[in-house]
Amino acid sequence: MSGNNKKTDSEKLRLKAEQNLKLSLGKRSSVLSDTVLSNDQLALLHELQIHEIELKMQNEELLDAKQNLENALTKFEDFYDLAPISYFTIAQSGIILEVNLTGAKLLNVARSHLLGLNIKTFINVTSKSHFSLFFEKAFTEEINSPCEVCLQPKDKDPVWVLIQFSRPVLGGKCLAVVINITDLKKTENELSRTKNYLEQLIDSANGPIVVWNPNSEIVLFNKSFERLTGYCAEEVINKKLDILLPYSSMKRSRAAIEHTITGNHMDSIEIPVLCKNLDTKIILWNSANIYNDDRELIATIAQGNDITSRKNAEKELEESQRKLDLALQSGNIGIWDYDVKSGFLFLDERMEKMTGITEPSFENDLDSFEEVVHDEDKALLRESFRRTIHENSPFGTILRVKGKGKHWKYLNVKGILFKEDEVPSRILGVAIDITEMKNNSESILFKLNEELARSNRELQQFAYVASHDLQEPLRMVSSFTQLLALKYENSLDQNAKEYIRYAVDGSKRMYDLINGLLTFSRIETKSGNFEDVEIAKVLKEVLKNLKFSIEQSKAKITIGKMPAIRASKNQMIQLFQNLLSNSIKFSTGIPKISLSSEEKKDFYLFTVKDHGIGIDPEYHEKIFQIFQRLVSRDEYEGTGIGLSICKRIVERHKGRIWVNSKSGEGSTFLFTIGKRLSD
Ligand code: ADP
Repeated sequence: MSGNNKKTDSEKLRLKAEQNLKLSLGKRSSVLSDTVLSNDQLALLHELQIHEIELKMQNEELLDAKQNLENALTKFEDFYDLAPISYFTIAQSGIILEVNLTGAKLLNVARSHLLGLNIKTFINVTSKSHFSLFFEKAFTEEINSPCEVCLQPKDKDPVWVLIQFSRPVLGGKCLAVVINITDLKKTENELSRTKNYLEQLIDSANGPIVVWNPNSEIVLFNKSFERLTGYCAEEVINKKLDILLPYSSMKRSRAAIEHTITGNHMDSIEIPVLCKNLDTKIILWNSANIYNDDRELIATIAQGNDITSRKNAEKELEESQRKLDLALQSGNIGIWDYDVKSGFLFLDERMEKMTGITEPSFENDLDSFEEVVHDEDKALLRESFRRTIHENSPFGTILRVKGKGKHWKYLNVKGILFKEDEVPSRILGVAIDITEMKNNSESILFKLNEELARSNRELQQFAYVASHDLQEPLRMVSSFTQLLALKYENSLDQNAKEYIRYAVDGSKRMYDLINGLLTFSRIETKSGNFEDVEIAKVLKEVLKNLKFSIEQSKAKITIGKMPAIRASKNQMIQLFQNLLSNSIKFSTGIPKISLSSEEKKDFYLFTVKDHGIGIDPEYHEKIFQIFQRLVSRDEYEGTGIGLSICKRIVERHKGRIWVNSKSGEGSTFLFTIGKRLSD
């Protein structure tokens, strides 16, 4: 469409040709003025000239356009070849039809050799199946996303590339744009390795580690934390941190956590943690914040240190310190500390108070301390230090010290030696003021002794008098009853005779009892009356005394070698006689008894062994108590005093008596007699 203002290209061309003609005609007018041409001829000539000019002009334009085109093509070829991206034109069969230089370089094959080869031969085995699928799709359907493939260049390490195929053009070929992402891949692998490493590191860290996001939600919970709390990570991940906070300290702990969310970090802050089993652990926390590139907080990582046992130990220590203070205070106990090397002696306040030492005059050494010690105890004090330091024996002595009052104070001083590299370094000790205790106990002990001796004397007196005085009336009862029986023998009926027999029996038993008691009370508890006694002779006497029962029972008694000892002869007779007569009495069948002796370092050991009825171990102690019998009087005669007399005699001879026996298996009575008995 042409208007006044708007001219078509051909109009413009014509206009330009007209102008050019005018210019050239001006130059040629003299030549043409000689020639006379008709108007038509002139018009035709003009048209021809115009056309010629137009053609020339068009030709020039075409030449320009051609030049531009050639320039553009060279540029395009440069772009195509030197682009950092590889371009491949590939036929559906996979044959490479075209490739730029970058592509040829990527596969390490000259471009001219590459053309005609199949792209599939350059796919690394790891990507082969994956690539085939993708390649097939590229020719059948539209694919927008690129495919990640591992290429295998000739004689080179594999490279990772992203391949994007253009839509297949007619003729069944398509363009593949290939970008080398090997470096990217390496960085990616590196990053994921670092990430895995960090995660493993966090997981295997000894200390509990937890990571939370700005919403206070747990995002990471390591193994150590699992062990600490009893929760497994899945139970707490994505939960609010509150799940780990005990209610009692929740407010304070939350404040500390919120502090981190506002960009601060925890620096050894104590936050108790609630375990799954509802135990509370005390954890010392340190935290760091993690930010993204825009300096926005994305997480807080906190590492804890379980100090529960330390805290408990501290608490216990405080508690025991309090107890110790209380004990020291109420027990009036002072503490001292002696440095072996320097000779420096430290006394605590209580110690100073006890000893009456005053700070300015006390020079913290032993000499200075000695000034308050009783003259007679000074050597003792030095000796105690010497023995502890050189002989490693515990320090222990009782010292008299001046104190503040008029009287001497008694201090029980004890201490322990400490060594450094096997060398004595210090003695740490206590001193207990025992003045009051000593005074009290001395008088109490004295009084007690007095009372005991008096009551013993009275008791012996009483037992003696009672048994002695009772013998007389008893004898009267017994003889008058017997007389009664004799005189009225004929007039008494059977019942009366029986009663009289009971009375006679009873009084005889009573007589035995009183006799036993008398013997028992006569064994004095205090020492004395010891002489050299030949036990063999003692036993001869015993056998004589027991002649009747030995003969009657046909007892077989064997006696081993017997020593001569220091003892009370009468009591030895009594002792052996009681044991032998028991062995005869409690026999089954013909009694077989053996006696033996053994000399030991500090005592003699005697044994009396029988094969009688034996004694149940349950009663081994009981039989030595007075009046204790295990048998009825109908079966075996006796008073239950014999063994208690034996025990008293043995103890008076600094010995011990016991029995080894089982019911039905005979008994062995053993006793010792001390060697060093003073008269
Ligand atoms: P008694 O012999 O007068 O009963 P003892 O004091 O001598 O009193 O003994 C106490 C008890 O110990 C006896 O009654 C008896 O049960 C038991 N006994 C003592 N010696 C023997 C022994 N050799 N065999 C078995 N039992 C014995």
